Amino acid sequence: MPVYQVYVRPLPASGKSSAFFLPNPNTICTRLILYMYLVKTPKLVQALLPAYLWRIPTREKILFLTFDDGPIPEVTPWVLDMLQTYNAKATFFCVGENVRRHPVIFQRILGAGHSVGNHTYNHLNGWNTENKTYLHNVRHCAHVVKSNLFRPPYGRLLPRQRAFLQEHYQIVMWDVLSGDFDFRQTAAQCLENVCANAQPGSIIVFHDSVKTNDKLRVLLPRVLDYFAGKDYRFAALPMQKQAALATAG
Ligand SMILES: [Zn+2]
Repeated sequence: MPVYQVYVRPLPASGKSSAFFLPNPNTICTRLILYMYLVKTPKLVQALLPAYLWRIPTREKILFLTFDDGPIPEVTPWVLDMLQTYNAKATFFCVGENVRRHPVIFQRILGAGHSVGNHTYNHLNGWNTENKTYLHNVRHCAHVVKSNLFRPPYGRLLPRQRAFLQEHYQIVMWDVLSGDFDFRQTAAQCLENVCANAQPGSIIVFHDSVKTNDKLRVLLPRVLDYFAGKDYRFAALPMQKQAALATAG
């Protein structure tokens, strides 16, 4: 199994996306790069964006599991039960509208000692959204998710969005993607992605969403079992409970 898995899909001709590190969004090369992702974030990428949190530097056997896009009743309570079984803490990057719809589940996350982070109110893609609209959406989410942690949906921010948000938030990315969101990957492949690439201090991405539900129910217990068997513990990312952007500007 290679460390890096690259999936490439051509961009539709009408695509207007632009990448901050790529000068011309219309070249074939850029179009291909826009739709590939790496299971393991290369050190070079991490070094180019040092203000982002990619992993926690440590030699201690500790992993930071993160769950994006919830909370939703179909998946999140099950994730919480599973984490509790292993005495594991994690970090949930919540979509504001889901928090509004399911406040009891959101409170259960906090009550269990997990961290939460802002994932915008409507799961916006920064590359396709005007700065003002995007930041307004983050602020809207900040009214219900009081945390200094932020993760951009799809990992996509334009430079001005990034510059503004990093003044107010710790922007959390990852060094390992499970790939659970990718319909081409089986649970076994996702397990391999995590087991082959995680290291002490890794920040690992999963999703508590309807789309990933079936896969996660196979994947998560195995990840917990595998790393618990190697004497790892699972911790929540440090969080300050504050409204952050909600009170700014
Ligand atoms: Zn997301």
